[in-house]
Amino acid sequence: MKFLASAVPSLLPGLFFYPRKAIKMITKDEYYAGRYETYKDDLTEQIDDNVDDLLARVNQVRTAYGKPMTVSSGWRPATINSMVKGAAPKSNHIIGCAIDIADYDGKLWAWCMDNLALITKAGLYLEDKRWTKTWVHFQSVQPASGKRIFAPNSSLPPNPTIWDAKYDSKYDSKPKKA
Ligand SMILES: [Zn+2]
Repeated sequence: MKFLASAVPSLLPGLFFYPRKAIKMITKDEYYAGRYETYKDDLTEQIDDNVDDLLARVNQVRTAYGKPMTVSSGWRPATINSMVKGAAPKSNHIIGCAIDIADYDGKLWAWCMDNLALITKAGLYLEDKRWTKTWVHFQSVQPASGKRIFAPNSSLPPNPTIWDAKYDSKYDSKPKKA
């Protein structure tokens, strides 16, 4: 049986569910990184629901990407968020609507740029890579601008040459009314 389990997927790719199960999804444990214990007073039911929703979306990307993804920052209770250099005071990490995935070589970002249709379908928005050199920030909340890829703040980008800031605006949502 052991032989079959390993040989069948490679012989008949796509016909069996086995290869999909082999893909390791991003888990809630990885997202919370133990903080559901240390900060359990900050963890509301709404936040936990947001996390379920966010991970379902991000795992759609994970499945399509087909390679491991490492969470570099998940849930940040407000007290932790305030200690993170450069973090927005109202960061979506606080409410379980944002996740950072490690991307030191820029390969995940490059893949995202080639797969914006999928990211749009998953209902995710990305911070502009010029602000996030070593990670990719995904969030399930639409920014006010409606832009699929948005600047996290109004400062000059810390790494202006890392990305050409070009993508098709057809992936943007309608801006929110003020
Ligand atoms: Zn982030």
